[in-house]
Amino acid sequence: MAHGIHFFMNPGPTNIPERILRAMDRGAIDFTGAQFKAIAAECHEALQRVFKTEETILAYAATGHGAWEAALVNLFSPGDKVLLVESGFFSLNWGMRGESFGLDVETLPNDWRRPIDPTRLETRLREDREHQIKAVLAVHCETSTGVINPIAAIRRAIDAAKHPALFLVDTISSLASMDFRTDEWGVDVVVAGSQKGLMLPTGMAFTAVSKKALAAAAAAKLPRVYWDWKRLLGEGSLAYWNGTAPVHFYYGMQEALRMLEEEGLDNVFARHARLAEATRRAVRAWRSNNGPEVFALDPGAQSNTITAVLVPEGSDANKVRQVALDRFNVSLGGGLDRLMGKVFRIGHLGDLNEPMLLGTIAAVEMALGLAGVPHGKGGVAAAMEYLAGE
Ligand code: PLP
Repeated sequence: MAHGIHFFMNPGPTNIPERILRAMDRGAIDFTGAQFKAIAAECHEALQRVFKTEETILAYAATGHGAWEAALVNLFSPGDKVLLVESGFFSLNWGMRGESFGLDVETLPNDWRRPIDPTRLETRLREDREHQIKAVLAVHCETSTGVINPIAAIRRAIDAAKHPALFLVDTISSLASMDFRTDEWGVDVVVAGSQKGLMLPTGMAFTAVSKKALAAAAAAKLPRVYWDWKRLLGEGSLAYWNGTAPVHFYYGMQEALRMLEEEGLDNVFARHARLAEATRRAVRAWRSNNGPEVFALDPGAQSNTITAVLVPEGSDANKVRQVALDRFNVSLGGGLDRLMGKVFRIGHLGDLNEPMLLGTIAAVEMALGLAGVPHGKGGVAAAMEYLAGE
């Protein structure tokens, strides 16, 4: 029997603030009526400010996997070649979905502990003289590793190679928590989900789509019905939906976007940066005594939404995660794919404050001891010192 507040410290889904829960706690309304249309219009305009785009944002009743798929089936034809920038489990997974649709997915291999080097991408694109590569796919924040990829620099690499490839970016664990500039960085398709920085339940996904991407979609031959951008856009007007609109999600989204605007996006980003730095300082304290370390090696590319913590050889990260959940009612993320048992992941995104983070760090520090993982003491103190000092 768990008591008190469940500390939901996964790197998404994340905890849903009371304000959003209360906003969703209302009766249904006609989704063809003026009241819903006004809510949807407010949401889509506010989403454009969050994505930093003036382009079209299409929404789906789906998880992020749906938005991944929507991007692929709308843009490509069977046999098309795309270049996937490897960053971790999620990047590879997106690529595997492309293969399932008969795309020729080339992976630009990369160390999971470091961001992609844009010059390597530029070199590969320069080699592609006949422009076989139709698109570059990258994940902004690789949620399985906590590494951030340099999206603006990747754009510059594509431009430097004078390559016409479309640029697709997954922002599922960065949007609304870390700065992302769709238009300024020349991103053609941005993939996002509801359950992380937007603080909503799981079940809505988005794609921001540039004019260049819409033009490519007109020529693309992969079959699509539910995901079809043309259908979603209706006869030139924003119809938003294939089927019934998820009205309650829009109630929640309206509130979430108002909350983000009240705080101010830059303040939201600064809050995430502070809490992330406090987390990293705690891990650095645990590092002594041959303890765990931050998985992401490059200090300039450590995520402000998730910290993957690598446990020392011979220790079991899953055990830490289990103890934190069973003993302290704190939910952490586990290691994915080749990182299973090697890392646990602390999510520090969404509606979060200092005591919530400190409670989590204290629970993790206790769980490290109970799971028999060697570590230095003082993680909580290091985080407190940083948070009190700022
Ligand atoms: N991409 C990234 C970077 C993610 O973190 C996730 C989920 O955590 C996904 C894609 C898949 O999204 P979903 O679980 O909403 O389908």
